[in-house]
This record gives sequence, structure tokens and C-alpha cells, in this order.
Amino acid sequence: MSSGKLPLAAGDLQLNFCKTLTCPNFGSKDEQDYLVQHTNPARPILVCRECGAFPPLLNNHDVHAELIAQRQLHADGLCACTNPECEHLGKPVLTHRHCYHAFGYSGDRQRYRCKSCQSTFVDRWSGVNKKSELQQKLLAFLFTGHTVRDICRRLSLNPKTFYDHLNQIAARCRQKLAAYDSRFLADTSTGHLASVHTALQPKSDNGVQWLATGEAHSGYVLQQDVNYHADDHHHLTTHHDPYQSDCRFMSTHSAGQPQETVVRPEGLLGRVDAKYRDVFARSNVEDPYTQPLHFIYPNRGTLIRPQYTTYAHYLNLKPLIEHWQQIVVFSPQEPLLRSACLSVFEADIRDKRVSHVYVEQDAGWQPGSEPEKIDIVLLSWWRDRWAFTRRGDGAKAICDHGQNKGQEAYWLTHASCDALKKYQQHFHQQFSLLVNEPRRRLRPGGLLPLLDIYRAWHNLCWQDRAHLTPAQRLGLTERPLTLADLML
Ligand SMILES: [Zn+2]
Ligand SMILES: [Zn+2]
Repeated sequence: MSSGKLPLAAGDLQLNFCKTLTCPNFGSKDEQDYLVQHTNPARPILVCRECGAFPPLLNNHDVHAELIAQRQLHADGLCACTNPECEHLGKPVLTHRHCYHAFGYSGDRQRYRCKSCQSTFVDRWSGVNKKSELQQKLLAFLFTGHTVRDICRRLSLNPKTFYDHLNQIAARCRQKLAAYDSRFLADTSTGHLASVHTALQPKSDNGVQWLATGEAHSGYVLQQDVNYHADDHHHLTTHHDPYQSDCRFMSTHSAGQPQETVVRPEGLLGRVDAKYRDVFARSNVEDPYTQPLHFIYPNRGTLIRPQYTTYAHYLNLKPLIEHWQQIVVFSPQEPLLRSACLSVFEADIRDKRVSHVYVEQDAGWQPGSEPEKIDIVLLSWWRDRWAFTRRGDGAKAICDHGQNKGQEAYWLTHASCDALKKYQQHFHQQFSLLVNEPRRRLRPGGLLPLLDIYRAWHNLCWQDRAHLTPAQRLGLTERPLTLADLML
């Protein structure tokens, strides 16, 4: 272990710096600005000399490795370069023609060569889908709540063939989405995004968290990731040591004891305040799993420390919205989401191109209500500046980390994570049998293709009360797509 040093940068990537927005050292990568010590394990390794904050450290190489792993999953089956070492990894031919040469045919399928790494691949989506009819039926059964066993029986499939189809359908959905995603990204110059997270299988306690970011008002979901790899990894670590490689893989021993049920305080202010106390009970404020937390490790695959999933998620999002002039990211009150977003967009935050707003509300709040009276409260060690309001039976609170005073009423009306939260709730309702199947509780891998299928269905097929899909709300399509359209 090198003493007095920050974890090594991975190329340009150095995420270890002061994360207090109002501190002059915010974003500074100069080691002189910090006290770095390794001698006393009970003390924080990094302390900011200006504000005294002690941000938890990350292994930059592990964040980068997770970013590549996510990008490979997002691009799986796309007509795009698949070389993890290549800068064109996951960039679809459809939207990045300049990155590729047409390179003859393989049977009746077009072959391409990547201009950067020279690797070649075929466009598996050219030509007709001969399995379209069967896959439409399979999807229709899935979306009407049938179990895998039931679908296999009805369609005379064995489970392996079922999952092969499911993976092919998911790849086709990713390919379909790529066209809409890129049109949305290209047509937009200012935007409100929302990031939300929840347990992938709320009744299984298997430690898998599902993170999704999308357009906040239409609910169009752009990117989603889980802190789980379907493959088994070696070098699992019980304690997170950011100076060790592969420290993002959690060991089976990390699981804590069942939590005592805590009495949640009444009222929104009480709950926001209690959340800060929970956060400070973590030994790493950015890792929700460093407080005694009960979960049962999946039987197969590997859990990733959530901070690595979250930082990589925003790093993957960043190039997609590079050309947007103004971006606001809403999230529920969770320092992991805040820190990851602020750290990844650190330069843009200082330029005021990107800002981050916490949004919390109770069930009685009517969306779009305008606040009458606003109370400002400074909370926590960070002295986060929250604005609270009430209307009828409902209460809502926001915390603008950009500290832009005078915007409180606007954000109290417009900032919202509702559409994204509903996206996740609907998934749990729509697929409740599948998600909660006892045999699946410790085998989350089978749900991963379903997430991409669900994202395509939600963005392109699902209609809200006004009979509009998220893609229609963004002006990307004139009409809702059907399940059959997805399989064409
Ligand atoms: Zn500081
Ligand atoms: Zn390439």
C-alpha cells in the first residue's frame, strides 16, 4: 500500500476528491488539498483541508471496468463494435456510420468493419425475423402474468429454449430502442432527468439494486443498470479496500444480520432528517450496504458494490448528453446518487450546465401543485438547503444542490421522480409472479433480459391515462407500438 497517495487514476478518471459543492476544493485532484493517511484504519483515509469532509474513496480502475461491463451489456446484440478495448464499443452502426466500413456479406447479412479496431461483425437484424410469431406469443404470455413453466408448457418449449428466445427478444428490443434513444438524445438540448433505484426483487432480499435514469416528465427510460453480474467472479472482498483491484466484487460474507424494524418518524421533515442519520450510520456514506443490512447472497453470479454500479452508470450517461446545454437531474434523497452524479459531472456542475435536485414527497401530494408557503431548513453535516411545503394532505420537499436561491417554488412544482418510480413499480406489478417465484429469489440472472424488454415496452408501447406512450410524449413516434411491432 502506498502511503499518502490517492488511488491511482484510470487514464483521465480520478473520482477521489472533495464532494462538498460549496468547498473551494470541490473536484480538486491535487493531493496537496487533502490529508491522506493509511496508518489509522479507524480514521478516514482522505480529509479535505478546506471543509473537513471525508469523502469515501473509490478504485478508479474498478469503476472503469464496471463502465465497460455495463456498456457491453447495453450493446449486447446491437449492430455495433463489441471490442471492450475499443472506443467504438456499443456505438450502433445505425447512428454512428462514420465509425464503420461496410465489409461485404455473410450469407444475406451485411458485414461491417470497425474503423478504430478493425474487428468485423454482421448485422444480425437485416432480413426477416423467422421466429416473430412464436416470440410474439411468448411476449403476450409474459405480459399477461404467466410463469415460465406455464409458457413453456403452452408453447412446447424447454426452459433453455425459452431463455434463448428471451435473450433474442431482449437483443431485438435493445436494437429497436437504440434508434429512438438516439433520436431523443439528438433532438434535445435542455432536459430534466430523474434517477431512481429500488430492489430488483423486493421480496427476495438478494442485495440486487436496480438503477434507472430517464426523462423526468414523460418517463422515457434511457439507461438502467443492476449491481449484479450473471457470471461468478473470483477475488471477492469482504471489506472494501479502494487500493486493491477487483474491490468492487462483494463477497458472500458481506451480508449482515436481519435489521430491527425502525420506527419511521411522522411527517416529511422527520423522515428526511432520519434518512441523514441512517446515512451517517454507514461506515461509507456512499455505500448503502455498509450499515448492518440483511441480504441473502444470490446462488449464482456476483454482487457489485452499489457505488461502482452508480458511478459507472453516470459515466455511461455522460457522453450521451454531452451536447445538451442545460441538464437537471432529480433523485430521491440518497447520497450515493448525489455523489456519483456530482462527481461524474463535476466540471459541468461548476459551469452550472448540470445540477442535481433531491425530491421527496408523501403520498398525499398532488403532482403539479403550486406551493403556497415554503419553509427553508438546513439539514445534516452538509447543511443541505431543503425547501418544504404543504398543500392539502400532501407535503413535498426539494433540495437544490446548486443552491440557486429563488428557484424553490419552481422546483417544488416541477421537480419529480414520479414517472421513473412508477416505471419500477409497474415492473414489479406486471411481473409479480415471475419476480417473486421462490426458485428465482436467489437467481436474479433470468430477469436481466426482461429488464430490456420491459424498457422497450414501457417507452414505446405502454400508454398513460391520456393514451400516450413516453415516446409519443417526446415526439419520437406518432402512435404506440404493439408487441408485434417490437418483434418485426
Ligand atoms: Zn472540501
Ligand atoms: Zn472497434
